[in-house]
Amino acid sequence: MVAGLVVIAQATGNIGSAYAETKIPVPKARPVLTKIPVPRPRPTADKIKAEKKKAEKAEKMSAEELTCRSKLRRAGVKFKPVKPIHGKGGCGIKHPISITGLPGGTKLSGKTVVACATGLALSDWTTKSVVPAAKKYLKKELTGIDQYATYDCRSRNSQSGTKLSEHAKGNAIDIGRFHLAGGDKLEVGSVKGKAQKKFMKSIRDAACSYFTTVLGPGSDIFHNDHFHFDIAKRRRGYRYCR
Ligand SMILES: [Zn+2]
Repeated sequence: MVAGLVVIAQATGNIGSAYAETKIPVPKARPVLTKIPVPRPRPTADKIKAEKKKAEKAEKMSAEELTCRSKLRRAGVKFKPVKPIHGKGGCGIKHPISITGLPGGTKLSGKTVVACATGLALSDWTTKSVVPAAKKYLKKELTGIDQYATYDCRSRNSQSGTKLSEHAKGNAIDIGRFHLAGGDKLEVGSVKGKAQKKFMKSIRDAACSYFTTVLGPGSDIFHNDHFHFDIAKRRRGYRYCR
């Protein structure tokens, strides 16, 4: 029994050392499979040409647009270009601008996004009519103008079934209030006294020289608290001011 146990012990020892000495073969590292990028199919020459033309057309400003912008800068209007607006159903502005200030430091409230020509008409009307009229009739400096609406993708007077509004093309602006030095405010919809009446009549009449549509209190039920001005183009240069 004892001898048998020794044999087993020896045998076990031998087995152990035999295993320790045998080198277990380590598998060779496989080469890493790098992904070779497959080139995308190249667009055809015609496609490249068409896309280039499209981009140029979208970015290129007409000479008229460039002239308008330089006039705005010279007038002292503070503005910045805005990305083209492509709205539904004909809404949109090809080269919109956002006006943040009018000449002579006159403030303009709200987000004023319009086409350049609308901004130029507003600027001219402000400096040539509103500023002098405020001095003449109200004996005050004009400090600010509050607009009630500029770009808006909607139908005329927001009535269904009517034509697209000039607001939807960046051609219109609604003016509701004037601010004067000293903190006085003048609402288009609530004029008090002779001087204020004269001021409002003067600037409303003058607006027809800069805009092609002038509406306001008394025109219809939609314009009792603001002036609507736009630069709609009509046959034979017809203007609609009432
Ligand atoms: Zn309007």
